[in-house]
Amino acid sequence: MRRIDLHTHSTASDGTLDPEELIYLAKKEGLKALALTDHDTIQSLPKAYFIALEEGLEFLCGVEISVKFDGPGHFHLLGYFLTPELKNLEGTLKELQRARERRNLLMIEKLRALGIEITLEELKRITSGEIGRPHFARLLVEKGVVESLEKAFERYLKKGAPAYVPKALLSPEEAISQVLKSKGVPVLAHPITLKLNFEELSKYLRYLKELGLKGIEVYYTDHSSDFTKFLLEKAKALDLIVTGGSDFHGMNKPGIKLGRGFGNLRVPYECFLVLKKLLEKMN
Ligand code: AMP
Ligand code: ZN
Ligand code: FE
Ligand code: FE
Repeated sequence: MRRIDLHTHSTASDGTLDPEELIYLAKKEGLKALALTDHDTIQSLPKAYFIALEEGLEFLCGVEISVKFDGPGHFHLLGYFLTPELKNLEGTLKELQRARERRNLLMIEKLRALGIEITLEELKRITSGEIGRPHFARLLVEKGVVESLEKAFERYLKKGAPAYVPKALLSPEEAISQVLKSKGVPVLAHPITLKLNFEELSKYLRYLKELGLKGIEVYYTDHSSDFTKFLLEKAKALDLIVTGGSDFHGMNKPGIKLGRGFGNLRVPYECFLVLKKLLEKMN
């Protein structure tokens, strides 16, 4: 069976491969189809789209939007599109990026008040994409303030820690309707990270379906076989499509291999075909 991967990150967000390198890796690994889904940005899509076309790799444009969630975990929404030109969505994401820039300045101030000097220039030096907490964490390690990235989050950056500042987020309604307005397919990413029990998750999925959700990321690096089976049943019962991906980040998540996750992930090619067919019907 040829592999596919519908959840990947590039240097436009917190991945370490640029779009070109990602497509070459997909070719090298023999993937049959790929989608690029950077966090809250569609900046890499035009380039990835055209290189994939040149290389004869089946490709879908995507994005992974962080969404407001009051529950215990976190909510990411995947959006899939046929083309990389998404003017409306681009405007919304730009607003979120400006909010992120303001947030970064606030985190710099909070760290300074704690006697830790991190500058915007230093942050910009280590990434060409959106700056976020992982970049703060890297600098805290490089400066010897903490020994590890984990410790940086634990002591300074996690929710409730002294340098933490909350991020401006879209509500589930807004995020889903933004994707639909751009003729895209909204899919719940890695349901495991919501940290809901089966009963709560069933209820929440019904609610998201009412808001216009079209699919569930059933096959995912961190999903157990029991959880995958549960999600397959839910997708069927709610008439939602099934997608899957590794959440490849290159060296920023070194254990995760493109198209394979930790090794056992297999996303059926059928998922790509069904998603593409739905997109074609909507466009
Ligand atoms: P941000 O969008 O700036 O809030 O950063 C979110 C990113 O930080 C996530 O995508 C994770 O990759 C990373 N992150 C969040 N919490 C932790 C943690 N406890 N340890 C390591 N990385 C984390
Ligand atoms: Zn990420
Ligand atoms: Fe995610
Ligand atoms: Fe992701």
